[in-house]
Amino acid sequence: MRLCALLVLLPLLPSLRAGTNWFLPSMLEKREVRRALQSVDSRASTIVEEWIRLTEIPAPSGSEQARAAYIRAAIEKLHLSEIRTDEVLNVSGVRKGTGGGPTVVFAAHLDTVFPSGTPLRVKREGDVLRAPGIGDDTSNLIAVLEMFRALDRGDVRTRGDLIFLATAREELGLLGAKHWLESSGYKPDMFIAVDLSSTQVWYGALRIHQFRFFYTAPGAHTMESRGAPSPARAVAQAISDVYRIPLPSPAAGLDGFQLPVINVGMLGGGTVFNAVPREAWFTVDLRSLDTPTADRLRNAVLLAARRAAEQEHVGFRAERALSIDYSKALSRAVRLNHPVVQTALATSNYFRKPDTPRIEPMDAGSTDANIAVSMGIPAVAIGAVRQSMPHRLEEHAEAGSIVPGIKSLIALAIALTSH
Ligand SMILES: [Zn+2]
Repeated sequence: MRLCALLVLLPLLPSLRAGTNWFLPSMLEKREVRRALQSVDSRASTIVEEWIRLTEIPAPSGSEQARAAYIRAAIEKLHLSEIRTDEVLNVSGVRKGTGGGPTVVFAAHLDTVFPSGTPLRVKREGDVLRAPGIGDDTSNLIAVLEMFRALDRGDVRTRGDLIFLATAREELGLLGAKHWLESSGYKPDMFIAVDLSSTQVWYGALRIHQFRFFYTAPGAHTMESRGAPSPARAVAQAISDVYRIPLPSPAAGLDGFQLPVINVGMLGGGTVFNAVPREAWFTVDLRSLDTPTADRLRNAVLLAARRAAEQEHVGFRAERALSIDYSKALSRAVRLNHPVVQTALATSNYFRKPDTPRIEPMDAGSTDANIAVSMGIPAVAIGAVRQSMPHRLEEHAEAGSIVPGIKSLIALAIALTSH
């Protein structure tokens, strides 16, 4: 058995050598490619204006209709076939290659974490654009769209197919990408999630567990509430116990992120001041770099949540919001050395801002690429724009960084599909 497996793998080995990068700067010298790149330069201000317009179209997770419609209309003007909007509002289209090359997906997500009613007006201060969602992931969505447009404008032909994918419900647990990869019928050879700052290249997948815990009781008027079972008290107890779970020391070299981490992101319950709530709830988002730690912490969280219900004599229900099975994921070394990662690293570094530190790959990820990683599809998460403070009202991005970012995507698309 072992020998058979080895023989099957042999033809793949040359292309999986450590550090296999398919990008060569000379690829950018071809006339059609030069035309595509120049067209991005000449459209710089138009691109930023559209980026601002798109940011101001609300797209809370699960309510992406307006943005999905905008993107659909935009890609209908491109040389794409099989344009689709699916049940969950993922929008996709295929840019057919000349044949014989790999199929590569470029995905950016439509949704933002900001609820409807959040003021989205973009403020411009010099080169800095400020607005909720300006970076995550509107900047990358525009960049991917503009990459496809530029390929059309240059009349660039690739060997492999390129798939444009705008995903929905990413912030709800990568639900759109999961739906698309499992049920669209496409079997891409490589998957690029464009969902980071352009200073990042991530080739892994964080282990993520998300839960919502519900506590229930018959309720009672405040006047009768002494000693009555209280879902509110159970939530308070459970949250404080969850935050007392000891966490291992943070892994070093992870772009400033302290992992593993457990966060309570939402809590709620009750309807009036003067009664014990009949129901109260909270959510947990747990992230770790490795499966054993993630599983151990998940068990500790479940135990703390359940114990609070028992102590308080209230009903209890746990809903799992997200949990991905990584048993089919390729090994760390294979993921890191795969051309999709090495080529993304090369193009991101080639187009990075002058005099900034070299971009190093990280074995992490909490983007649509996680789903691809879990299915064993070679994948990487990158970014096209320098940006910071995602998921916060203070979110901002560098307007001028989008032009080199789009060029970097063009270079990546050409390098990956020409093999
Ligand atoms: Zn995102």
